[in-house]
Amino acid sequence: MKKICLLIFLFSYEVKAQWIDWCVPDHFYNFQELEKLYPYITRITPDPDLIDIRRPKYETNPEASFCKRPMEMLDTVVFHHSETASSWTPEMINALHLERSTNNDPWYMIAYSYVISSPYRGETLPVPEVAQGRPLDIVGAHAGGESYVSMDEIQTKLWTEGKVTCGKEGGVFQVDPDLLRNGKIKANVTTVGVVITGNYAPFSKLNPLGYKKDNPRNPTQETLVMAAKMSCQLQKKNPRIKKIGWHSQYKATACPGTIKNYISEIKTIAKGYGCEFN
Ligand SMILES: [Zn+2]
Repeated sequence: MKKICLLIFLFSYEVKAQWIDWCVPDHFYNFQELEKLYPYITRITPDPDLIDIRRPKYETNPEASFCKRPMEMLDTVVFHHSETASSWTPEMINALHLERSTNNDPWYMIAYSYVISSPYRGETLPVPEVAQGRPLDIVGAHAGGESYVSMDEIQTKLWTEGKVTCGKEGGVFQVDPDLLRNGKIKANVTTVGVVITGNYAPFSKLNPLGYKKDNPRNPTQETLVMAAKMSCQLQKKNPRIKKIGWHSQYKATACPGTIKNYISEIKTIAKGYGCEFN
């Protein structure tokens, strides 16, 4: 096995990404440790085995600007529902988000970092799955463009050192002072957006695909376990991620509907996988 690993190691960058999955022992699945041991592959740190993550190939908008962040900026997982039918795939959400913009600035790609596809309670489709959305080191577009949060010492240091930069594909990346307002930073910079496909909010004029009041939609137990594993996996990768929140904490919105009622259960399940969340 070691010889095969060594052979793979001699191949291309992409193959090396796979090499980590095959050859790095489980106890090395720690971001900081990996960074020390394999400085040349820090951008492709593998996910631990807590949950399998599909990695779709997304179309991006080369005209769109986006921002990059170091992992240490992240401290919170924010849950959403997709406000679509639960059958929507991450690729469909990506196509939808490529049509969106904030202040005439088009979105780069799917707004969320992870997509949990799952059926409503009492249903069987879609087949449950977790998919990668935006790479984690790209700032998402999920918490609301007008939502700002306080930074702790480490985040302030990273920001001051110019570690959060914005630009376009293939272009120059620079600090964007608009990310900061009254000493607070855009919530999108410090949070990880995780969306559960489906519409878990009641019907309204603003939410025509919502459920009828007497027939609310709820997540399945499997969905909650996937949400907990996903959050825990993120914490194992980056121990600074200690909070789980939801969209309406950041912005007046019906998102994530009834999923909000299950956040404490998600935290309890995550505890079973060795993670502590506030
Ligand atoms: Zn949302």
